[in-house]
Amino acid sequence: MIKENLELVEKNIQEACKKAGRDRSEVTLIAVSKTKPVSDIRQAMDCGITVFGENKVQEIKDKTEEIKEPLSWHMIGHLQANKVKYLPGRVCMIHSVDNKKLADEIEKQFSKTDEKIDVLIEVNMAHEDSKFGLSPDDAPEFVKEISTLPHLNIRGLMTIAPYTEDPESNRVYFKGLKELMNSINAMKIPGVNMDTLSMGMTGDYQVAIEEGATFVRVGTGIFGERNYNI
Ligand SMILES: *Cc1c(COP(=O)(O)O)cnc(C)c1O
Repeated sequence: MIKENLELVEKNIQEACKKAGRDRSEVTLIAVSKTKPVSDIRQAMDCGITVFGENKVQEIKDKTEEIKEPLSWHMIGHLQANKVKYLPGRVCMIHSVDNKKLADEIEKQFSKTDEKIDVLIEVNMAHEDSKFGLSPDDAPEFVKEISTLPHLNIRGLMTIAPYTEDPESNRVYFKGLKELMNSINAMKIPGVNMDTLSMGMTGDYQVAIEEGATFVRVGTGIFGERNYNI
């Protein structure tokens, strides 16, 4: 089933790229494997997938210890500062930076191995109380504030759009995230030239691609429904 799902997702990505006049190579699919067993990850690997997303540090630890092949792991979920120490050497990007304490801890832990880590700033575009992330109004100042941390490479912005049955209703948030990135770039903060937009999940990744996503994070659409009770 994972193979068939991946074929469909790939077809949809290609269609969205075509519709938007974008090259397929501009969009990276992150296979979100959270809660799923290593056997599922191996099935996706057999189909050529090398980029995976997880939202819990413990799961990244366990899975990177079990799977030795070179893969790109992305930390996409809310991150507590006290867990950052487990990430150096394991992940290539952190998508969920939204407070100074966390940014400082990332700086501290990644400086130990002198690794420069790609990070995205998480923005709560729809101002949902249930979600993490900065308000769009606060994002520019925050980027400026953390831009001097030498082991953080601020690559762009990430958002988790509201859950909806109608992907079109999220278009405004994806458009807004891109505009926000452009306006922060226009501030010409030394060392900041963002080019990465992590937006779009199973329900809305085609719309996100049409609006400029460079990373889409697809879980259910590849691996099926998650069961949190096991
Ligand atoms: C779980 C998760 C996803 C994937 O969600 P699906 O709807 O299953 O595609 C994407 N991004 C984040 C941050 C997630 O936690």
